[in-house]
Parts: sequence; C-alpha cells; structure tokens
Amino acid sequence: MSIQIFGLPVSRGVAIGRAVLVASSRVDVPHVFIDSSLIDGEVARLYTARDVVADEFEALKRDLPADAPAELAALLDVHQMLLQDEALMGAAADWIRQRHYNAEWAVSAQLEVLARQFDEMEDPYIRERKADLEQVIERLLRSLSRGEPSAVPDANRTTRDFGGDEPLVLVANDIAPADMLSFKRSVFTGFVTDVGGKTSHTAIVARSMDIPAVVGARQASSLIRQDDCIIIDGDAGLVIVDPSPIVLEEYRFRQRQSELERSRLARLRHTPAVTLDGERVELLANIEMPEDGPGALESGAVGVGLFRSEFLFMGRSDNLPDEEEQYDAYRRAVEAMKGLPVVIRTVDVGADKPLEGMSASELRHESVLNPALGLRAIRWSLAEPSMFRRQLRALLRAAHHGPVKIMIPMLASQREIRQTLDNIAHARRQLADSGKPFGEVELGAMIEVPAAALTLPVFLRYFDFVSIGTNDLIQYTLAIDRADEAVAHLYDPWHPAVLQLMHSTIQQARAAGKGVSVCGEMAGDPTFTELLLAMGLRTFSMHPSQIASVKQRVLRADTRRLAPLVDAVLRSEEPEATCVELFSQGGSSHATQMRA
Ligand code: PEP
Ligand code: MG
Repeated sequence: MSIQIFGLPVSRGVAIGRAVLVASSRVDVPHVFIDSSLIDGEVARLYTARDVVADEFEALKRDLPADAPAELAALLDVHQMLLQDEALMGAAADWIRQRHYNAEWAVSAQLEVLARQFDEMEDPYIRERKADLEQVIERLLRSLSRGEPSAVPDANRTTRDFGGDEPLVLVANDIAPADMLSFKRSVFTGFVTDVGGKTSHTAIVARSMDIPAVVGARQASSLIRQDDCIIIDGDAGLVIVDPSPIVLEEYRFRQRQSELERSRLARLRHTPAVTLDGERVELLANIEMPEDGPGALESGAVGVGLFRSEFLFMGRSDNLPDEEEQYDAYRRAVEAMKGLPVVIRTVDVGADKPLEGMSASELRHESVLNPALGLRAIRWSLAEPSMFRRQLRALLRAAHHGPVKIMIPMLASQREIRQTLDNIAHARRQLADSGKPFGEVELGAMIEVPAAALTLPVFLRYFDFVSIGTNDLIQYTLAIDRADEAVAHLYDPWHPAVLQLMHSTIQQARAAGKGVSVCGEMAGDPTFTELLLAMGLRTFSMHPSQIASVKQRVLRADTRRLAPLVDAVLRSEEPEATCVELFSQGGSSHATQMRA
C-alpha cells in the first residue's frame, strides 16, 4: 500500500527510484561502492568472515561447561544455522555482485530485509528469532572489521554499472556531512533522511549534489524498505512509498517538466548578471572540494565566494591534512577557477561537522553538551594555533597561483580578530623565513553571529570584506539549532530581526567602501533575490546549481525601484507577505501602480 512521509524540502525536483537504505540506526557500518574488478574479492571477504564466525560458534559450543543448560547449545545451533542460511549469505553476496556494495553494507542491507520478514511473522517464537539474527550479524560485522578492509571506493559509478537503468535513492536515519561528500559523485538520484534541518550541513552538501532531497522525514528509514519504489518530491518535502501507477505517471510528467525548465535556465549560463537598470551583480559559487571548481565555472559563476575548507579535514580517521596536502588542494581550486577570485574559508569544524579523532579533548566535551555554541570554527583554530598557521601558510602559498581571499568563520569579538590577524602575520613571517613563495590576499570576516553584526564597524576596520553567513546568523539570532528538525518550523529567514541585521550589515559595509556578500543559503534562494538587491547587495554566493535561477531574477529586477521598498519590508510584521506584494516582477508592478 502506498504511504506518504512528510519532511523538509532541501533540494528541488523529483526523483523516482529504488530505495537504498544505508547507515541503519541498528548497525553502523562503512558504506562503500566496490570496483567491478574487486567484486569476487569482496564476496570472498564475506565468506571468510562467515567461516571465522562459524568457527567461533563451534568453539563456544565445544567449550560449554558440562552443566550448562541444554538451551544454550540449542541456541548456538540456531545461530550457526542462521549464519549458514543462503537467505543471509547468498543474498548478501548478491548485493555485492549486483549493487557493488562492500561486504558490511551488503550484510546490513540483508539484515534490514530479513528483519522485516521476522517482524511480519505470526508466530511469536519465530518473530523473536530476529534478535538472534541481529546477534549473528553483529558477530559477522565484527569479524569483517577485524579482517582486511574493503577495496577502494569507486566514486564514478553510475547506475548503469549495476546492470540496470533503475535510479537509486538513498534513505538513511542520518548521514554525516563527510559521508555525504563520499556519495557526492556516486549513483544516487535523490535522498531522504530521518533527521536534519534545511540548512544542516548534510542538507547543504546534498543541495550541492543538485538532486531532489528531503530531510527531517522522521520515520522514513524505518518505514521504507530496501528496494521499495519511492518518489521524492523535493519541492514539497514529500516522500511517497510504493506509489500507485497514476501517481507515478503524474510525477514522471513533473520530472520531465523540471528537466525542461533546467535546460531552459542553463541557457542563461554565460549571460552577465546585470539588472534592468544596469547594476552588475556578482554570482559566485559555494564549493566543498577543489574538484567542484569546473562545475562552478560551467554554471556561470564568476568566482568562488565560499570554499568550505573543512571538508578536507573531515571523514579521515588518521591525521589532519598537512601543509603540503592543503596547499595542493587550494592551489588546485585556484587553478580550476582560471584567474577568477577564490574565497577560501578557514576550517569551520564542530557543531554538525564533527572531526573524527579530533585532538582537542575539550571539543569532544563541548560537542556533547552544546555543539553549536562550543569550540567551533575560528574558536577551534585559535585553540590549535599550530594547526591554524599550517592552514594559513598553505592558503598564502596558494595565493601565489591566483587571486585568493581568506575568510574567517564565526568571529564575534575584537579579541578574536586581533588573535586571528596575529596568526596571519606569524604565518607570513614563517613563509618569508623559509623562502617559500606566497601571495597577497584580501581578508574577510563572516558575519554569522549577531554580536558581529551589531559591532560591524570594528570588523570593517580590520577586514577588506565581510560575508553574511545567514545559516548561522539565523541560528544564533533566533536560538534555533539549524540541524534539529524538531525546531525546523521556527527557523525563519524572514524574521524581522534577521532582516534588520542583514540590512544594516550591507548598508554599513557599502558606506565604508568594503566588499559585502551573502554566502548562506538565502543567497541561492530566488525567493530572496529582490529583497537582497533592494538591501543593496551586489555579491551573492551559492551552490552552482542555483546560479541560473537567481540570475533569472536579477535580469528581471530594477534596483532603482526595489531599493525604496526595503523600509516597508523591514517595518512589516509580515515581511514575507509584504515582499510578495511589493516585489512581484522585480518591483516594476508596484512602481507602475505608484505612477498610476
Ligand atoms: C552560513 O553560516 O551561512 C555559512 C555560509 O556557513 P556554514 O553554512 O558552512 O556554517
Ligand atoms: Mg556558518
């Protein structure tokens, strides 16, 4: 029977495909796609682990004390039987062969399938055997983790490599931003998670993949089964499981429509973003990895406005990237942009972007208590000066190869500004002493804490430019955890307090002759384009996939007509409604009414 699950829309469009459940809440295992040439090896890995566990069961049975209850031996027999059952092992091997899953993923995928079958059993005795199956699988996973690791992931796989054309849709309780990144160039055509807010970092990475996605869908990963046919409606935040043929047809139609719309918008790619009254607007790209550079150019971005460098630091269980590795990554990003400016933000870990094996023990402590208010972003950098200077040296060296701007996240006070600048000066001296070439950089501060917006003149004195991080500015102004779906309905970019902070930041920066941009999600949401233009914003940084839609709005806007309307929006108790009323058709309809 068809069911509907509601969540939060993250990324627009429609995806239709087979559900692939990962990172089940039951067992946490690595999810890796195996290269075709290594499939047999992976299946052998699975059976080797099975044999190890079978030997363990034999040994346990052999060593049972003579007075042990007979049920224990019987239980071990049941476990052995489950372990040898082809419904487990044969099916898991099929997941490896057909879907190229690593053995751990294959086993946990099959656990999901079998667990459901047990749940549906009438006989309570058989139903309870699910717990036995889980125990057997836990042993199997432990045995796999002790043995040889899986072969290297194949990041470039497409669905066709699986011997079928059916698209796959990722369904999970939660996906860490780093794992999301590893899925970035893989097969999935849509994704759904139980948890997460619209501007959680997982959602942001998903949006950068430009595929329909829904987060905060609560029970999705327990309601959806492995291989179910599902529709993701990324506009409505809706997931439909097992749709009827008529619903399926309707969504296929919408899918074709949105593809047509995309290709229509793509034609704007190389049109300069200039308003009707001749104001030039810079549309920049937000990227996570140097490899995103060509895609940014392709989308028509005229530079990178936010390179979230922390993704180089995440998802690695070993050491953090050293200076050379970072230098190489930043240089590649700069070269990929072919002379266009690249704003690289220093590492912003913590909160919903934890680092594995982080050196600062306080961070772990903070992460548990109140991660968003803890040792995050610049606070962590200042607490780890040698790590921070390593990154600064790498950035300054990359600036030798093209225009780099360094941007600092989450600054709140003058003290932090001074410490930051001292570290930059120190890194420069270190490079000068070592004789390594480095370049000049502009320095920018992110305005994402209300304290920074309220004391902006201090920031304007020390920095060349500021960039408003609306995702955090909203979170910290409204005291709403951006990653928590339980309060997602209160996370409101239209809140007058947020709009006032943004407006005054833009106005003050412009008056001081300093650069000002918005690089949070609001910049890429066309609903806000006219308002931001009216506030005086001329530099927007967003996911490359959003550039064409925002550009379309820019091309239809007239800033001479928009600017005088901004006060009415700021004074309004319902800014969203006021905006819709005043800004329709780039403000021209209102102006026409006023003239009439
Ligand atoms: C922001 O806070 O708006 C921002 C751009 O930074 P991040 O989303 O990475 O915290
Ligand atoms: Mg931020």
